[in-house]
Amino acid sequence: MSYPKEMLERMVADQKAATIRRAKVLIKENYSDEGPRLLSMEQLEKRLVNQECKCALCEKELGMGQWVVDHCHKQGHVRGLLCRSCDSWLGKNERMVAVVAAYIAKEPIDD
Ligand SMILES: [Zn+2]
Repeated sequence: MSYPKEMLERMVADQKAATIRRAKVLIKENYSDEGPRLLSMEQLEKRLVNQECKCALCEKELGMGQWVVDHCHKQGHVRGLLCRSCDSWLGKNERMVAVVAAYIAKEPIDD
């Protein structure tokens, strides 16, 4: 089944508007806490929209109170928005993930 072009454009626009509404709800929650911010409200909205309000790792929808702004602890830059579950897993396994990725990427050795 194919849709007329205007209908497809309307569906995409509606989807984007819904994502922006959802991003604003998640931002309101994030900015209700006290403490230092890694991103401005504008930067946070851009990140949320780019990630379609989903976790950057597992791609589950970010829920109220169930997400964090993940950042590199060595260099300080923001990497992405993660659900609490992925953030916790990454915190425990980050070093090992790099070791495994380097191991998998190794060139084959001729025996
Ligand atoms: Zn996740």
